[in-house]
Amino acid sequence: MANKINTTLPLFCPRHGCKFYGLYDNKITKDGKYTTENDNVKRQMFYCHRGKHRFSETGFSDLFGKHGSFKEYEQTSKLFSYGMSCDKIADVLEKDKRTIDTWRRNIGGKCEIFHITLCMLVGLSVKFLQMDELWSFLKRKNDQLWVFAAIESKTKFWITFEFGSTTVWPPVRLLKSIKMLLKIRDDTIITITTDKFSAYKNALDKVFNEITYYYLQIVKKRYRKKLVTVKKFFVKGSSDNFPAKTQNTSFIERLNLTLRQNISYLRRKTLGYCKNTNNLKSTMWINLLNYNYILKNDTFLTENQQ
Ligand SMILES: [Zn+2]
Repeated sequence: MANKINTTLPLFCPRHGCKFYGLYDNKITKDGKYTTENDNVKRQMFYCHRGKHRFSETGFSDLFGKHGSFKEYEQTSKLFSYGMSCDKIADVLEKDKRTIDTWRRNIGGKCEIFHITLCMLVGLSVKFLQMDELWSFLKRKNDQLWVFAAIESKTKFWITFEFGSTTVWPPVRLLKSIKMLLKIRDDTIITITTDKFSAYKNALDKVFNEITYYYLQIVKKRYRKKLVTVKKFFVKGSSDNFPAKTQNTSFIERLNLTLRQNISYLRRKTLGYCKNTNNLKSTMWINLLNYNYILKNDTFLTENQQ
């Protein structure tokens, strides 16, 4: 986890009953530590200046009362982004598997809220969108599970993901959540690249009907697992609308590789395939947070630095 980025986010009061709940126009400072009675874990305390009350770092959060320390939550998250399975993490941290399962669900939920809130707060600007899908087994190895992911190829920012079958609906849901996070200005033109999977085109027609975009499909032909030809099919716009180095799906394919490497459920030729999509979902959100906000990418650079 080298190259940590520095992102200072505004602090706010998380107590729902407080008059100043969620407002940035407040002062939050550290206010000593508190040791939990049951498991002797140290928790950071904070003070809400306008509401004049203290609160703990896990208070009002999904991790409240989950009998772990922040260090253990952090270790669990890191191990999940290194591709460890729940059983192994439980073994390393000397915890029950069910405890790690609960932590994963709660941490995954927090990661999702963090990502979506931040993107909506800042307004996501997407210029080069790449989407792709990868599949794995589900349950008893009888079903296929498809994972759809979207990335901003210039900044390598992983926007979001969806699960589903090879119908039009997962790409529709994927595009709907991208649209929700987007900051659309009048001059916004999005350049989109996918493979030949036709559901993307139908989903784009449905969801991006008010958005100006150029769309390129990369059609790869393989013979005996070897890549034979790569054809470009400009569905909307022409070659001139796609700058050099954007006429490909390389970046999203690189992300797929990272996912296969870091998410035990998506590994090929193993017994670790997914039995419960909720577990995969939590693991994916933890990985998204790690990929976007802990490992370095270019999203948070200013225009001049890019
Ligand atoms: Zn408050």
